Amino acid sequence: MRIKNVLPVLIIFLMTLSVNAREKLKIVSTTSDLASIAREIGKDRVDIVSFSNGTQDPHFIEPRPSMIMKLKKADLVLLVGMNFDVWLEPLVANARNYKIKTGNSGYLDLSQGIKKLGIPQGKVDGSSGHIHPQGNPHYWLDPENVKVMANAITLKLIELSPVSADYFKANLRDFSSKIDRRIKTWQSTLKPYKNDKIITYHQSWSYFANRFNLDIACEIEPKPGIPPSPGHLQKVLQKINHNKIKAVLMEVFYDPGPAEFLADSTGINVVIVPNSVGGTKQVKDYFGLIDTIVNELAEGMK
Ligand SMILES: [Zn+2]
Repeated sequence: MRIKNVLPVLIIFLMTLSVNAREKLKIVSTTSDLASIAREIGKDRVDIVSFSNGTQDPHFIEPRPSMIMKLKKADLVLLVGMNFDVWLEPLVANARNYKIKTGNSGYLDLSQGIKKLGIPQGKVDGSSGHIHPQGNPHYWLDPENVKVMANAITLKLIELSPVSADYFKANLRDFSSKIDRRIKTWQSTLKPYKNDKIITYHQSWSYFANRFNLDIACEIEPKPGIPPSPGHLQKVLQKINHNKIKAVLMEVFYDPGPAEFLADSTGINVVIVPNSVGGTKQVKDYFGLIDTIVNELAEGMK
């Protein structure tokens, strides 16, 4: 074939490629959990990148220039909200992408529609290091909340790409019924420990504990984001002994030192789990995340 004949074919081929690429919605999420849920709904019609990977403390993500580049091209940003991923704000401001500015069509704060827990009474003094000034933002650890989040993502994807409305709706139905089935399994695994007390490191397990009927006696952190003093640890120690508490539940990225001290002093089991997708290698999606947490915790409470 002569070059004259090849060129038009090549041009048509490249145009088709670029049209297909353009059709995929470009989504940026602050956490790997939001990315996992959005992937279940958008599947092959979305391109998703998450700014945190589950192994880092997602309250404090270091901004990078590459993030601004991704935000410049994004059709949609997904965030946890409630001051959790407040580090996103300067990045969005620097990206100068009108679509994804607060309140615009490409900005979705998933905390809307969630029944929030832990809203502080009175004024919270930020200078003390308290990192939940708008209440507890760890709502994705309740799978019932994840259905609400998936619904909000579906409505947003339909708004941005109405041509795929039926596809997104069908994916939402599949996802929600899978969550319903799995909630039953998770509840039956934790049923023997109904109303049992646990200790947690950070105030991140309230929604999870409510869903699965566990009672959080106290946190190792005296306030969200504040490391424990020796005096506070003594109080936690007395609580463990007094209530014969079996397990400390904590995330992979926190310092295990204080929990190990409590384990040495009281014999309590330290259960270290991811609290986001990707927090350990095996946890590849939201279902794997709750599977791991539920199974490890049940093991630790035996
Ligand atoms: Zn937190």
